[in-house]
Amino acid sequence: MQVGHVLRSWGRILQGYAPALSIEITRECPLRCPGCYAYEPNHLGGGTTLRELSDYRGDELVRRVMELVEQEKPLHVSLVGGDPLVRYREVERIVPALASRGIHVQVVTSAFRKLAEAWASTERLTVVVSIDGLREEHDRRRAPATYDRILENIRGGRITVHCTVTRQMAEREGSLEQFVEFWSGRSEVQRLWFSLFTPQRGAIAPERLDAEQRRRVVEKLLELRSKQPKIDMAPSALRHFLKPPSSPDACIFAKTTRTISADFRTPVTPCQLGGEPDCAECGCIAAMGLAAVGAYRVAGPVTAGGLFHLSHRFGQLVASTRRREPSAAPGLVQIGPGTAPAAETEAL
Ligand code: SF4
Ligand code: SF4
Repeated sequence: MQVGHVLRSWGRILQGYAPALSIEITRECPLRCPGCYAYEPNHLGGGTTLRELSDYRGDELVRRVMELVEQEKPLHVSLVGGDPLVRYREVERIVPALASRGIHVQVVTSAFRKLAEAWASTERLTVVVSIDGLREEHDRRRAPATYDRILENIRGGRITVHCTVTRQMAEREGSLEQFVEFWSGRSEVQRLWFSLFTPQRGAIAPERLDAEQRRRVVEKLLELRSKQPKIDMAPSALRHFLKPPSSPDACIFAKTTRTISADFRTPVTPCQLGGEPDCAECGCIAAMGLAAVGAYRVAGPVTAGGLFHLSHRFGQLVASTRRREPSAAPGLVQIGPGTAPAAETEAL
């Protein structure tokens, strides 16, 4: 992470803004992946589900995204879903518009359809393709976005592969090595990221890893990253998979990322996963990366995380003052505690 980016993020936090914004840009996805958090019944808090929300398309969708970004002033925008490529025409307009404003954009997709050619050379854009396991397992879970289709659709592109490690993958001997070997060998793949499956509290999910499996996966990834530079994960972040933030309140990722669902009204809380994620078994790469940054000792016992939480509290005071003042821009969608209608990411 660059110093300038950290300082700009800190400035946003002190002003009461979240430096990162994640938008579930559509309620639709052609896949039906088992374990997908976006379509869990409680993803949006237990009332409406993502598939039941009204969403937007065409000029109206582009307008709403740009308006929201204008209001929230993020440094980083993730377009998730559903699958953002369901709205590929709109996303192909939104990406350059955001990037030209100096905003880092991330499009998270299954690559069920071809990526825009221009994206291979668009600065400040990361296209994250979710690939969960080796061909046989992935194709069973994520058809129609099969290995063959992904390989066809990313040709000539520039992508980051993101794999969510499930119990099924953890149980299969040699699967991580084979996965890394296959995808790191593709010229389109710039880097590899790994998350671990994060269950909802009390859920009985076949994807859920036990403590010993988590430990072995982390050890294996530490070993693999020392041999394969495309695995873009710091050892300190990987080790945090074994001691995740204890709650959303302790999670820097949850506090620095605002997620809004496809109706542009419903917030996704407490983090991008929605519902009631089990923080004790969190496997989110972003949460672990920021937890590792937070553990950094700035001076003596003072950690970057301690400074962050203080700054965040200060920023919330600033934000509450701002909300009490008459809005200079009536008509904009208000998102934030107490302002958005209650109810409630492509999931990685
Ligand atoms: S990202 Fe993980 S640790 Fe943070 S709130 Fe969500 S589940 Fe909890
Ligand atoms: S995990 Fe992603 S691709 Fe799969 S159903 Fe959920 S949103 Fe769609």
